Amino acid sequence: MRAVVVGGGIAGVSAAHALSRKSVDGVSIEVTLVEAEKVLAHHTTGRSAAQLILNYGAGPIRALTRASLDFLHHPPDRLVDHPILEPRDVLTVAAAEQGESVERYLTEGRAANPEIREITVAEARELFPPLRLDRVARAILEPDSYDIDVAGLHQAFVRGLRANGGTIRLSAPVVGLERRSTDWVVTLADGERLTVDVVVNAAGAWGDVVAERAGIPPVDLQPMRRTAFMTPSRYGDSSGWPLVADVDHNWYVKPDGRRFLCSPADEQPSEPCDAKPEEIDVAMAIDRINAATTLDIRHVASSWAGLRTFTADRSMVIGPEPAEPSFIWCVGQGGTGIQTSPAAGHLVADLVADGAPGANFDGVELDLAGLLPDRFRLSPHHPQV
Ligand SMILES: Cc1cc2nc3c(=O)[nH]c(=O)nc-3n(C[C@H](O)[C@H](O)[C@H](O)COP(=O)(O)OP(=O)(O)OC[C@H]3O[C@@H](n4cnc5c(N)ncnc54)[C@H](O)[C@@H]3O)c2cc1C
Repeated sequence: MRAVVVGGGIAGVSAAHALSRKSVDGVSIEVTLVEAEKVLAHHTTGRSAAQLILNYGAGPIRALTRASLDFLHHPPDRLVDHPILEPRDVLTVAAAEQGESVERYLTEGRAANPEIREITVAEARELFPPLRLDRVARAILEPDSYDIDVAGLHQAFVRGLRANGGTIRLSAPVVGLERRSTDWVVTLADGERLTVDVVVNAAGAWGDVVAERAGIPPVDLQPMRRTAFMTPSRYGDSSGWPLVADVDHNWYVKPDGRRFLCSPADEQPSEPCDAKPEEIDVAMAIDRINAATTLDIRHVASSWAGLRTFTADRSMVIGPEPAEPSFIWCVGQGGTGIQTSPAAGHLVADLVADGAPGANFDGVELDLAGLLPDRFRLSPHHPQV
């Protein structure tokens, strides 16, 4: 079997690696990954906050995060030379008027991570000294959270793909996808044509664009811009401090050595594009973070934005298109595409090679229907093809 994976972000490389480990009828799957840009991970994957949080995302996403933990904690030796995860707790804080959100967070959060607990504001300030006691009334600690070495993880999938004989094509945008009897003919911008049996759509914000090129109806992906910036720390080495976030997702701050990564946690609808930060969003983050902390942010060392791409139900779309099962979706990664990538890749490969989730999902309550594209084909707004 020959497969082409469209997109060289974390979704594409994890799916390509997992596929390259599979065989069908005793024959290995031949995998080619095609990426439009001249480097991999140029778009959303290279712009994340690199955090793993168990209590994050829709139900099926939480299951994918759980199913990714084994790979992330114990990646195969030959693929990495240092750990992918380093512990970093998450501290969620709230003002007095955000009590309802705190209760909801605690109830929902404990289902995903039983370690989640409320701590006193004084304890919170010991963990994160810049908290303003006059603005923070409650605090929740989420241990069992981690920094992710995103570049190391992405590279691990690339190494594994290459070691299994897979091919990567850069500066190779897919401009056409044509179904011919049992094959797909994939046309690249330079006119070259690849003939394959299976197409995996891991094109991130461009997922619906790629589907349309294949004559497949969209799943109505909505890319949302999120802004981030770095500011120097006045506190010396704060690298061991937790990530601190507002309970209603209005801002977050993540220590990064002698700097802080800051974000207004914005979600601005966007077309698929090379997202750029807007000054107003950076200013909004500074206002909100300076109000809740004594970080006293005045200087922005660098800023960027990336597109977090969601479906209407904010779960991912992973699996075969019902009317065209050789077209496999792997999109809608939203704000969790890094932490779920090992399991998302395995699921793509399992569904292609075996038609069902495999051993990586043993003991994980995976709501497959909440991931399959079929759910977008049953409503009157999404007629069957
Ligand atoms: C500020 C911010 C913070 C985040 N923090 C976290 C976090 O802490 N933890 C976490 O898990 N996630 C986080 N995320 C989300 C995470 O980054 C994304 O979910 C993930 O990177 C999406 O990966 P992807 O491969 O789907 O998309 P992308 O990385 O965008 O890759 C898609 C690729 O497809 C290519 N492509 C598109 N069209 C074509 C075509 N026609 N032909 C060939 N190639 C094509 C594009 O060039 C692109 O390289 C964050 C995102 C942002 C913006």
